[in-house]
Amino acid sequence: MREQILGLTTPIMAFVFAALFLAVWWRAGLGRQVLAFAAGYAAFALGFIVTHLLPTGAAATFFVTQAFYSLASVLLIWGACHRAGRPAHLRTLFGIYCIAAVSLLAAVSISDDAGPRLVLINAGYAMMFLVAFVSLADAPRRTLVDTAILIVLALHTVDFMVRPVLTSMAEGAIPAAEYRESLYYTIINMVLMLKTLNTAIVLLGACVYDGIVKVREGANIDPLTSLCNRRAFEAEVARTLSQSTHTGEQVSLVIADIDHFKQVNDLWGHQAGDKAIAGMGTLLARMSRPHDLLGRVGGEEFCILVRHCGEADAAQLADRMRLAFARSTFPEIGDHISLTASFGVAERRPGESYDRLFSRADAALYAAKNNGRNRIERGSQPAVPLCEDACRAAA
Ligand code: GH3
Ligand code: MG
Ligand code: MG
Repeated sequence: MREQILGLTTPIMAFVFAALFLAVWWRAGLGRQVLAFAAGYAAFALGFIVTHLLPTGAAATFFVTQAFYSLASVLLIWGACHRAGRPAHLRTLFGIYCIAAVSLLAAVSISDDAGPRLVLINAGYAMMFLVAFVSLADAPRRTLVDTAILIVLALHTVDFMVRPVLTSMAEGAIPAAEYRESLYYTIINMVLMLKTLNTAIVLLGACVYDGIVKVREGANIDPLTSLCNRRAFEAEVARTLSQSTHTGEQVSLVIADIDHFKQVNDLWGHQAGDKAIAGMGTLLARMSRPHDLLGRVGGEEFCILVRHCGEADAAQLADRMRLAFARSTFPEIGDHISLTASFGVAERRPGESYDRLFSRADAALYAAKNNGRNRIERGSQPAVPLCEDACRAAA
């Protein structure tokens, strides 16, 4: 009786972890992998309860337990692979499960000794975790948490391979009816408790890490356009400019501002205005190169730090963006209405600060606005503003 109660420690612990993962998934809005971890722990707990409480020795108990354990393993593997953006190879896992189930059937019909069945089943789990290990070993390991998950998978693989063989060597035949009194059962109880604990700690650590990354990204990403916000953009630019000071890399800054945007809001409403801002963000992201830096730095104002690029080339890029935006249509505004944007471009001078570079590009943007909008102006060739034209004409 005492053993029966003690034996419930692991499934209770697994249920607690399942609830914890479920709460983390629900409250922190992390990916579906957390839900898979919750379901995996629940399946594992159910499997453990089945083997612990149902009549020992019955082949059905074996099969039901292993079905729950297999489901738990697959959910855990899927979650870990999904989190890392790696394939979980579900077909291969299912194939391994089928082979293990057929071998188990054969073992059950041939002998009453539980030993060979346990070796076969565990070899199946070892193969499953090996598949996951190989899949994740290819993933970029950025943090300690990623490495810890890989180590957990490796430990599962080794444990499933080595423990059953060693135990049956030490114990000899285990009559199925005496399975719960076997050394194997005592050892597996201990090992499962330890594995339940350390796997959950590592996976919860991964959730905490992912949550921190999400919060950090949320503070840097503009929700409307999914681009960097001003703070993140300027921080990234500061890093890039300090590098380019050393390498002598040519960089140019482009500032884009949608024309007469107040009227867009006034005429079609704020939501339509939002769609136009989001559309502009998508277009600029599509037309920038991966190593360029792009951010939404104001309401309808965007900045692009164009790398390895002088002012003339950056102005050409800006002009292509200008034309593309002028050709874009927004259903909320009407297909026949064309929005436009003005652009200011400036190439960084050697050692120039971001503030100085920005104010030259901004002055060029100001000139573009003054010169009629829907146009590009370059910092090194400031167009004479219209008001100065007018003053000169008046003189
Ligand atoms: P200009 O051609 O000189 O740029 O004229 P403009 O009307 O675009 O002038 P300005 O840049 O000063 O106006 C920006 C407007 O953008 C003011 C503000 O109401 C609006 N705005 C700022 N942020 C948002 C936003 O997130 N969504 C929407 N819909 N409008 C915004
Ligand atoms: Mg504007
Ligand atoms: Mg503006």
